[in-house]
Amino acid sequence: MARQRVVERSPLVQRAAPLLAEAMPFIAHPQIRNRGTVGGSLAHADPAAELPAVMLALDARLEARSRSGARTIPATAFFTGLFGTALTPDELLVEIAVPPLPPGSGTAFVEVARRHGDYALVGVAVVVTLDERGRCRDARIALLSVGAGPVLAAEAMKLCVGETPSDEMFRATAEMAATRDIDPPSDIHASAAYRRRLAAVLTRRALGRAFERAGAG
Ligand SMILES: Cc1cc2nc3c(=O)[nH]c(=O)nc-3n(C[C@H](O)[C@H](O)[C@H](O)COP(=O)(O)OP(=O)(O)OC[C@H]3O[C@@H](n4cnc5c(N)ncnc54)[C@H](O)[C@@H]3O)c2cc1C
Repeated sequence: MARQRVVERSPLVQRAAPLLAEAMPFIAHPQIRNRGTVGGSLAHADPAAELPAVMLALDARLEARSRSGARTIPATAFFTGLFGTALTPDELLVEIAVPPLPPGSGTAFVEVARRHGDYALVGVAVVVTLDERGRCRDARIALLSVGAGPVLAAEAMKLCVGETPSDEMFRATAEMAATRDIDPPSDIHASAAYRRRLAAVLTRRALGRAFERAGAG
């Protein structure tokens, strides 16, 4: 029942989950965010929505409750397809737990929409963590508006781990995400080829920003 606008303005969210805070203003307009809820956005599971991809990148855990009990669903298992979730008809989404970021972490959210507030043509949420030698210990990259639901760029993420952040690494990872991890649709808003190109460019930018915020280089 947490309104999007309340979460957007929360100092706690800004401190503990800066990726969520950064993504929030991209959701439509203040009028929409005054009414829309975080749980409602996740339960609705629009493939072009920001929050499903953010929760995938943050590796959030979602608690579903019904008369027969409660269960925790990892974000990776929650989104099941076009406007589809793992919730059964009698379940409510009652809690979203975002794990704290380990030290040496950085996050970034970027998207392109024709006008600010429109649904994104493509968006990317990135969480990275550096080890004590400045190499990538962990990377999570989630894209929106490139398929039936939010997409975790699993192949691209593997490419990052153990590497020292560099422009070359960002480019290679972004190309991997755009060519291997996603299969974007063509629709009235953009062609599949355009979305793929956009995914590569935005993933590269998001990685650069996230690693910089993590303290790289
Ligand atoms: C004009 C407009 C523009 C928008 N632009 C964007 C955008 O750019 N980006 C974006 O991400 N979103 C956008 N949205 C979506 C908006 O931000 C809300 O997320 C969305 O409308 C859902 O609203 P709600 O939270 O009130 O949920 P509701 O409309 O109340 O619910 C949506 C669905 O989820 C179910 N549901 C809601 N809460 C729960 C729960 N806790 N547990 C189980 N099921 C639940 C409901 O039964 C319903 O089926 C836009 C919406 C509008 C109207």
